[in-house]
Parts: sequence; structure tokens; C-alpha cells
Amino acid sequence: MKTIYLVIPCYNEQEVLPDTVKHLREKMENLMANGTITKESRVVFVDDGSKDNTWAIIERYHTIYPELFDGLKLSRNEGHQNALYAGLMQMRTQCDAIISMDADLQDDINAIDEMIEKFEEGNEIVYGVRSERETDTKFKRGTAHAFYKLMKLMGVELVYDHADFRLMSALALDALSQYYESNRFLRGIVPMIGYKSTKVYYKRGERKAGESKYPLKKMIGFATEGITSLSVKPIRMITALGVILFLVSLLILLYSFIRHVTGHTVDGWTSTVFSIWAIGGLQLLAIGVIGEYIGKIYLETKDRPKYFIEKRLHNDNKNTK
Ligand code: UDP
Ligand code: MG
Repeated sequence: MKTIYLVIPCYNEQEVLPDTVKHLREKMENLMANGTITKESRVVFVDDGSKDNTWAIIERYHTIYPELFDGLKLSRNEGHQNALYAGLMQMRTQCDAIISMDADLQDDINAIDEMIEKFEEGNEIVYGVRSERETDTKFKRGTAHAFYKLMKLMGVELVYDHADFRLMSALALDALSQYYESNRFLRGIVPMIGYKSTKVYYKRGERKAGESKYPLKKMIGFATEGITSLSVKPIRMITALGVILFLVSLLILLYSFIRHVTGHTVDGWTSTVFSIWAIGGLQLLAIGVIGEYIGKIYLETKDRPKYFIEKRLHNDNKNTK
């Protein structure tokens, strides 16, 4: 029997939390009753600097069910990935494995049984993978698939249709703790860890209440972050583009020389103006991409703390470990 923690980042989730708590309590009690997990297992909500009553709700449930629901409150909104990372790092020594999932219960909690089963079979990482996306809007589905394609093209290996619903053993979490980068894109880092891993398929439901905290703007930011923190392919592509442009410019040189010799020098205004704009634009783009990486280096060398825990509702049950 294993001690399993569920870590759930929450940002302004007051509408959905009561429902989530109800379902998770049922699930956890069942798992305890049938001997799948120990009585020390628990659910840890990480409040990612919510502006609504999320933390008050977490506190309330911790008071009612102190043995089951815990909370960590971050000092400010750090974003989904940082909140999740904070929860994983704070809890990794307390249990045998952590399952991370979203607060809105879009991930099927019944997949947890199979995840634990696979963990018992010796897998250190178990990825929850969506078997279908019927419940997502067409737009969300389209953008999500474009996202995976783009990531692949840019040299970032992801587990297809896997978000952050996964089980990681204490061993895998220890490995994760040794990635010191400031830019955290967990689903890109976790596959790099290695160890024996497998997938569990589940149907993704609809968000139970509240609204998505990932509008298009955040998704684009997320993709950019993922690409620039895990891959140098964009810089290589720019180098390739530079080489191609240089070759083109040689042709243009030849062309203008011929025009000169044949006495057509005033001609070609259009092409001149066009080249100024095209080359200027491309140069700016290239500088922008390189600047993005320099910004990353800047932040990495600062090695800033990733989060601060403001409050903690947790009774350690394995102080010695
Ligand atoms: N979340 C967070 N901090 C943020 C944004 C989101 O902790 O700044 C949490 C949110 O509460 C939820 C999870 O991250 O538990 C995923 O967010 P959401 O369900 O809105 O994303 P979607 O499922 O629409 O991609
Ligand atoms: Mg969601």
C-alpha cells in the first residue's frame, strides 16, 4: 500500500472547489477503504495567489477534514506551472508518489486507480493522456493540436494530449528537483527525466464550474515559454534563413550588375524598396528571437526563487523521511 498525495493548483476556483472536494473525498475514501492507498494519503491544494475566496474555502475544508485536505498558499500569483511545482517540491518527501491534476476536475479522477496500479507495477511516471477531446470547444481543440505540432516542429518533445495530469514517484520528483531552470514548463521537462514510464488513457470532461484560466493570450505565452526554454531550434532556423538570404543577395548582386551594364540603373525601384522592408523586418525578427534567449539567460543567471509559501495547512505524517 502506498501513500499518495494529490497536488492541485488553484487560481480563483471558488465556484468549483466545493464540488471538487466532494468528489475527491469520495474517491480518496474509496481508495483507502479498498486498501489501494494508506490513510496518510491526502489532497493538497496550492492557492496560486487567488483574488477570490479560494484560500478561505481551502482553510474551511482543512478544518472540517484535517486528515484529508491540506493547503499551501503562495505569496502571489506565480502561474499554473510554478504553483504545481511548488506543491510537488513541498510534498515530495512526505509520500511515495504525487498525482497532479487541475482543480476543475476536467481530468477523470477514476483514472487515478489505474495510475496507482501502474505505479505499483514499477513505473516511476504515469502520464494521463486524453483519449478524446469531444468536450472541448472546436477552437480549444484546434489551438491545442496546433500547439503540439508547433512544439514538435520547434524541437520540444511532449507526450501528445497529455497536460499536467500525471503521477510521479518520489524518485522521479527527486530527479525533477534537480532541474534548476527558472523557466518551468513541466510537461516538457518531465519526459527528459527518463525512468520507466507509461500512459493511462481517460476521457476529459467539461470544466465543472468557473471559467478557463487559459485564454488564447496565455496559451500563446505558454507555447513561447515552452519553446524558448527547452529548445534552441528557433535560433538555428534564423541562422538557416540568414544563409538563404545571403545566397539570394548574391543573385541580386548579379542581377543589378547586369542591369548596370545594360544601362537600366534607374529601373528597379520597386525591388529596392521591397528589399529594404523585407530585410529590415527579418532582421528585427531575428534580433527579437535572439533577445528572447538573452532574456532567458538573464533570468536563469539571477536564479530567483520560484515561489514563497505564505501559509501552510499541513500536518507532516512522515517527519523522519
Ligand atoms: N491555475 C493556476 N494559476 C494560474 C492559472 C491557472 O494555478 O495562474 C490553475 C487552475 O486553477 C486550474 C489549472 O491551473 O486548476 C488549469 O487551469 P484551467 O482549468 O483554467 O486551464 P484549461 O483546463 O482551461 O487549460
Ligand atoms: Mg481546466
